[in-house]
Amino acid sequence: MRAEILAVGTEILLGNIVNTNAQYIANRLAELGIEVYHQSVVGDNAERLMQAYDLAFKRADLVITTGGLGPTKDDLTKEVAFEYFGKKAVLHEELLKEIEDYFKKINMPMSENNKKQAFFPEDAIIMKNKNGTAPGCIIEEGNKILAVLPGPPREMKLMFEESLVPYLKKFQDSVLVSKTLRVIGLGESNVAEIIDDILENSKNPTVAPYAKEGQVTLRITAKAENEEEGKKLIISVEKEIRERLGISVYGEGDITLEEVVGKILVENNLTIATAESCTGGLLGGAIINYPGISKVFKEGFITYSNEAKIKRLNVSEKTLKNFGAVSSETAAEMAKGAALSSGSDIGISTTGIAGPGGGTKEKPVGLVYVGLYIKGEVKTKELHLVGNRQRIRNMTVMRALDWLRRELISRYI
Ligand code: ATP
Ligand code: MG
Repeated sequence: MRAEILAVGTEILLGNIVNTNAQYIANRLAELGIEVYHQSVVGDNAERLMQAYDLAFKRADLVITTGGLGPTKDDLTKEVAFEYFGKKAVLHEELLKEIEDYFKKINMPMSENNKKQAFFPEDAIIMKNKNGTAPGCIIEEGNKILAVLPGPPREMKLMFEESLVPYLKKFQDSVLVSKTLRVIGLGESNVAEIIDDILENSKNPTVAPYAKEGQVTLRITAKAENEEEGKKLIISVEKEIRERLGISVYGEGDITLEEVVGKILVENNLTIATAESCTGGLLGGAIINYPGISKVFKEGFITYSNEAKIKRLNVSEKTLKNFGAVSSETAAEMAKGAALSSGSDIGISTTGIAGPGGGTKEKPVGLVYVGLYIKGEVKTKELHLVGNRQRIRNMTVMRALDWLRRELISRYI
């Protein structure tokens, strides 16, 4: 099956928005083993849309459109498609009811225009829109298939995953099964070196590394007759990779570092407080991203000034004077202070020079100290980070969380 992705929308043509829908769909079709030969974009114009359908169906069996399903006159994707296939659209009462219900739920008046979204040919396969009003549809005509999806990515993705993917399954003779492993604390070249032979020699499954913001993702992909076979192929390669990379593999799939840390804290009933200088709340915010953390997260201090470090965290004036705010000594006292003043088992602190100004020869921009207090024991870590202010702050959070994760695993797991 050859597929083409057709994005409809003048905004995309003009460069006002990026065609992330095409990126998402292309990526997923590749995973599903469906080949994409062309991607195209057309504005909200009936004539050119008609030409785009014509061209697309000359070279593809499956055309997937996104956008132009809204209630207004310039939303034409469906209407032109029905015309292209010579199909008459009729009102689907049950869809109209669902659209009305949707507006009730969000407590907004429904406009007459929205009725348009409930019109489809009788033989179209309807795809529900759980995140919006516009349903999508699949039209089968001979050996051609058209799938029409909404433009807003949140609506498009859910419909794609819940309705279109199950539909497409019946055309597949093989499936691609993949699994991602998340790695932190080793650079991409480091990872590549450690598993060099696996990256080179693996044909099925294949292993591909991607680096992003201080983390490496390894995607293991197997081609097999069915999902179960695919999973079996992945197991042994995964095991080998995990053995070699050890604790640097922090999770799989979509899991985040803060979820991993949050989970360990909650499961072990370890209370925590943060004391932040250069990260200004980002570390606490990241930890609080984990739902359920309220059981153990006690307090977050943003102590940017020396006075605050003294007043809130009991950092000694002498330490600040002798070693400076950006020092291992201060980081240690901050972590301890956060834990003691909040009555937590753990205190974690950050203090550093995020730049762009403020660096010196002895303490350059990117020098950061992280302090960690765990039940009476205090440790610190010195980081040398590069990048702009935002990157240094984000990397500090990631490195601090990873360090906490490793320390917790060595003690509690
Ligand atoms: P609506 O009911 O909101 O009008 P629609 O199905 O008619 O939805 P469009 O009007 O084409 O879709 O686009 C609505 C919004 O969805 C756009 O403003 C844009 O934010 C997003 N969007 C549309 N197409 C794409 C695309 N290809 N990639 C990323 N985002 C998109
Ligand atoms: Mg629209």
